[in-house]
Amino acid sequence: MRSIDLSNLKAIVTGGSRGIGRATAIALAECGADVAILYAHNFEAAEETKKLIESYGRKSLALKCNVSNEEDVSKTVDYIAKEFGRIDILVNNAGITRDSLIMRMSEEDWDKVLDTNLKGSFLMTKHVLKYMIKNRFGRIVNISSIVGITGNLGQANYVSSKAGLIGFTKVIAEEYSSRNITANAIAPGFIETDMTKKLSDRVKEQFLKKVLKKAPGKPEDIANAVIFLVSPLASYITGATIIVDGGLSLG
Ligand code: NAP
Repeated sequence: MRSIDLSNLKAIVTGGSRGIGRATAIALAECGADVAILYAHNFEAAEETKKLIESYGRKSLALKCNVSNEEDVSKTVDYIAKEFGRIDILVNNAGITRDSLIMRMSEEDWDKVLDTNLKGSFLMTKHVLKYMIKNRFGRIVNISSIVGITGNLGQANYVSSKAGLIGFTKVIAEEYSSRNITANAIAPGFIETDMTKKLSDRVKEQFLKKVLKKAPGKPEDIANAVIFLVSPLASYITGATIIVDGGLSLG
């Protein structure tokens, strides 16, 4: 039987306290990896994820780190590398929304979303790369969004950040494939998490009407795609974007 073994690999998942990040961190631990999760504010949720990772017999670190702040990122990545000895996997998952129509969107809301979703992924990647290059191995997965491909009214900042992430993924692949580092993106559709909980019933209905599977996705659906991309099964895949949306973009 074929199974995915990530034993002895060391992973970082940003935004690992809740939602897709938590499911991904747990799935990585289930496959044998030690996992550091980064979070912004939610200490209790991060500690809970850490305990869940440890319940698989894996090492875990739960660290408060604002991914949009370079000093914070640099110190945190160096600390994880010291504690774990190496860094093999980076999942850039931390993300936020601040929705409104362009004419009503404040500069602050534009900057906050771009800073977290796009600049945060750039900073994390920049600081993790030196450890991956040293070991001539790395797997980077960027969590984009289906709306980064299709667009979505009311989300100019978010859509721009997620479309930017798809371009950024291709450049990481181009610059570092010679060092045995792959980079891929995942474009999730409508997934049940705190992020989508706050959408109005009308918007939720509009999304769900389009989903061919007729149900929202679960954080585990995205975690499964991450596991595939960081596994030896995907060693020939780089610079790609995998859509995991239950057919939403076809509906
Ligand atoms: P979520 O439940 O709202 O969780 C967001 C996570 O990001 C939390 O762990 C949060 O930490 C962390 N975070 C936010 N700002 C941060 C910062 N500056 N530095 C470090 N961590 C930060 O979101 P989700 O639905 O799981 O989404 C995860 C990713 O998937 C996001 O990039 C999102 O855009 C993408 N995505 C989601 C959907 C969906 O339908 N849910 C669809 C497409 C794409 P705290 O817990 O401390 O706040």
